[in-house]
Amino acid sequence: MKERLHQLQQEALEKIEQASDLKALNDVRIAYLGKKGPITEVLRGMGSLSPEERPIMGALANEVRQAIQTALEAKQAKLEQEEVEKKLAAETIDVTLPGRPIRRGNPHPLTRVIEEIEDLFIGMGYTIAEGPEVEKDYYNFEALNLPKGHPARDMQDSFYITEEILLRTHTSPVQARTMEKHQGRGPVKIICPGKVYRRDNDDATHSHQFTQIEGLVVDENIRMSDLKGTLREFARKMFGEDRDIRFRPSFFPFTEPSVEVDVSCFNCGGHGCNVCKGTGWIEILGAGMVHPNVLEMAGFDSKKYTGFAFGMGPERIAMLKYGIDDIRHFYQNDIRFLQQFNRV
Ligand SMILES: [Zn+2]
Repeated sequence: MKERLHQLQQEALEKIEQASDLKALNDVRIAYLGKKGPITEVLRGMGSLSPEERPIMGALANEVRQAIQTALEAKQAKLEQEEVEKKLAAETIDVTLPGRPIRRGNPHPLTRVIEEIEDLFIGMGYTIAEGPEVEKDYYNFEALNLPKGHPARDMQDSFYITEEILLRTHTSPVQARTMEKHQGRGPVKIICPGKVYRRDNDDATHSHQFTQIEGLVVDENIRMSDLKGTLREFARKMFGEDRDIRFRPSFFPFTEPSVEVDVSCFNCGGHGCNVCKGTGWIEILGAGMVHPNVLEMAGFDSKKYTGFAFGMGPERIAMLKYGIDDIRHFYQNDIRFLQQFNRV
């Protein structure tokens, strides 16, 4: 019996040693220490022993049990440890791998120019006014001295939605709306930035949708010299301190007199180059004194009040400022184009 126990211990320890995973180990445990295992079997046979031998055999059986138990626990700990290590090895993260760079956004060049112009005029005491892009014919044309059938309406090919509703062709309706709100009382001093729409075929210098910034000042004793001083200040801030401007006579239905405004070429300083097409001057905007009819339509007494207005295309300003040769670049959102303005 003693030998049988030693033999069982030997066998069990060998099998424990051989067990390659926790399941195999558990099988060994059940086989040797279970109720139907060989050790229990041996102990059942103790009845045939003498009273002297029984406690000795009992103690030995316990020792064997204990030895197997200890070996099982040691092996289990070892297997568990191995499993953890295997898992860690499989899930290793290489912390030295460089991260994916996060792209930093930046304002669109057009947004940048519009904000620059806004800041400049806010600094001169203007406020920003906005209005609807889907506009009434009345505010887009009639209130601006362009009654139905007026030939100058053809200067602005329009997207009509109904007979009376259209996509605004300029930001001037915001001026008409703002003047109306003032109910004949000055001063009015606003700039109106926004999108406008015209039935143009898109090419390098035309787009069916583009942006405008218009300015309007209405008060007593507003003179053309005020307009000139304001626009010279604007030209110098946008294109350099030694710029000058000149007025050329022009026609707009909503201003009288009307002028085209040129800025001296920032590229050649006025000597003539390809940017200014050899003239030394670059056309940047249209302006004029607000037509008395426009003032009267909006409820202002044109004998008491005068005003000036100007309008420019931020696309054109941005194209000149940054040397961009095609207006379509602004609307295609090509990241390679936009990224060039990251640090402008
Ligand atoms: Zn030039």
